[in-house]
Amino acid sequence: MKTFCGRANPTTGSMEWLEEGEDYDYHQEIARSRYADMLHDKDRNVKYYQGIRAAVSRVKERGEKAIVLDIGTGTGLLSMMAASAGADFCYAIEVFKPMANAAVKIVEKNGFSDRIKVINKHSTEVTVGPDEDMQCRANILVTELFDTELIGEGALPTYEHAHKHLVQEGCEAVPHRATVYVQLVESRRMWSWKKLFPVHVEAEDGEKILVPPSEMENCPGLPSVCDIQLNQMPSSDFSILSDVVKMFSVDFSKPVQSASTCYRVQLEPVKSGKAQIVLSWWDIDMDPSGMINCSMAPYWVKPTSALQWRDHWMQCVYFLPREEPVLQGEKLYLTACRDEYSVWYNLQKARADEEEHKADVCVESPVCRCRAHLLWNRPRFGQLNDQNRTQQYIQSLRRVLKTDSVCLCISDGSLLPVLAHYLGAKQVQYFVLFFRSLHFSLFLKANHLEDKIKIIEARPELLKPSHLEDKKISVLVGEPFFTTSLLPWHNLYFWYARTAVSTHLANNVTVLPQSASLHMMIVEFQDLWRIRSPCGTCEGFDVRTMDEMIKDSLNFRESKEAEPHPLWEYPCKSLSEPQEVLTFDFTKTVPQHCLSTEGSVKLLRKGKSHGAVLWMEYHLTADISVSTGLMQLSNEKGKCEWNPHCKQAVYFFSSVIESEILSDPTAVTYDIKFDTKTGEIAMDFKL
Ligand code: SAH
Repeated sequence: MKTFCGRANPTTGSMEWLEEGEDYDYHQEIARSRYADMLHDKDRNVKYYQGIRAAVSRVKERGEKAIVLDIGTGTGLLSMMAASAGADFCYAIEVFKPMANAAVKIVEKNGFSDRIKVINKHSTEVTVGPDEDMQCRANILVTELFDTELIGEGALPTYEHAHKHLVQEGCEAVPHRATVYVQLVESRRMWSWKKLFPVHVEAEDGEKILVPPSEMENCPGLPSVCDIQLNQMPSSDFSILSDVVKMFSVDFSKPVQSASTCYRVQLEPVKSGKAQIVLSWWDIDMDPSGMINCSMAPYWVKPTSALQWRDHWMQCVYFLPREEPVLQGEKLYLTACRDEYSVWYNLQKARADEEEHKADVCVESPVCRCRAHLLWNRPRFGQLNDQNRTQQYIQSLRRVLKTDSVCLCISDGSLLPVLAHYLGAKQVQYFVLFFRSLHFSLFLKANHLEDKIKIIEARPELLKPSHLEDKKISVLVGEPFFTTSLLPWHNLYFWYARTAVSTHLANNVTVLPQSASLHMMIVEFQDLWRIRSPCGTCEGFDVRTMDEMIKDSLNFRESKEAEPHPLWEYPCKSLSEPQEVLTFDFTKTVPQHCLSTEGSVKLLRKGKSHGAVLWMEYHLTADISVSTGLMQLSNEKGKCEWNPHCKQAVYFFSSVIESEILSDPTAVTYDIKFDTKTGEIAMDFKL
């Protein structure tokens, strides 16, 4: 069987559907899955085990047989815990076939085949009765179906169904309950992920202010959750406006309702400020007493307890529909609305007519109306709001623009044409080559630029002289940024587009950026290494079958691939100097041949080399460059500061070496190849 996989082609900037073998999808799924991360989550595992032991004991004390239903068994871990704790029988349900197969092997290897039955079905398809999937209903319900938003992976409908059809009334549930917590904050940094702030430009004829269209100002944004490693957000980047408040709880031992609903709590700000963001996380009590608690609370909530690093459960950032000025001590109502899979928030000032008020708070889930939130994701909003970055583009544009420049911009949803217009003389014409224009015309309208900037809705290779009113381009600009880019070098599509429009360029054309370079550095991760590291045993259970499966999937393609990660969320220390490994000359067209480089890099610091980080730098002019990766490196300890708006590429080494500082430092050799035909980079490292 064949499957079709969507993938952006970095040489055309557009999505293509590639035919892949049946195995492709699931190898991708496993290679990039969070199973390893879950198995490394010691705090989670220990608490599940405690909770399961306690539940089995309670059932046994009642003189009943302990029959367990484990929905979403994955490796079979929680069922094996239950069987070890003395459960009489476990039904382990897993919908994902490769995982169900792995669970069968792991259960057998650990000697539990007689007491654990793995069923490869979605739980809602499971049947109960003599000769059916389950002989009888279970009296212990164990699951781990939660995502960072708690309900995003469909926990609620799964529980609702299980209580109706698969478990006995009064069953024990592990976890017993989940509670969602919220805290109201003001944060320019996080707010900049949703709103476009006005851009100030010092032009020759005075200050110009680029304003977002009103449609964008009033747009509720996207319904999708914004989940981040909140523990990496320094406390100086937000201001706390309320205490931590319990928003809602779900008792998993009772029938669960998944239908849409709202919850409301009263808040009194501890400080006056602008309410913009609701930070949220949850905890789960493994037992009814609440003694076994697993919490996702960020560092400032319980500063004394040790934080467990995990990537499969993080924290959520919710954007209020509007910024709301609030006063210390004033009465506010915060409403959480949810449907089956997602949650959103609203804030209201308390009014006398509270009851009537309550009725109108259940608002619809946020849907982007201005279309900007569809084209610009949250990091992109952050990037466009980054004033330092904008200043660098402004300075470089000032240098290259002349009064008679004819300017073409190639980048998705870029503000560069507007900056270029403000910085150039009035009679200059600007063209934006734009095949994902969406909201851009709104933007031009709001700033009265419709007749100054022309949007050309054509792909670069289809550009005709008539589009340019028969003029030649004297300045070609790009950030470059394209929404389809996954890895840093995918924005080299700018180079391909530049090549495609070659015939329209004047002989003395200025290209901005003039070149790009690929940089690389060897690092030791504080925690991220866990997601690709084998587990061996987990709480005494042999899960090597899972390790092997992940390894197979990672090796499924002959050359291992780099993967994108936003490294501001994943601290690491540099073990080598950053090194420029390839350069791309935008003043010339893309060459026919591959660009490749070989070399070695010395490990200068003590540490474990988990992998290489790669990023792009764009050289806007001879002396102005912007980095999409490393921003700063403090040398004694190798502490890195990463561009907070971009994902960097991480190539995990298949084996890790531990380096000591030696008089003759260890070297890592590399072989990096940019295939100009595919726009992809292949790499190999030897330690
Ligand atoms: N229980 C394991 C794995 C948890 S990951 C552990 O704790 O380590 C959740 C798993 O549940 C995934 O493998 C997913 O495929 C599966 N899953 C989610 N919803 C399901 C459902 N309703 N029925 C069956 N499997 C489900």
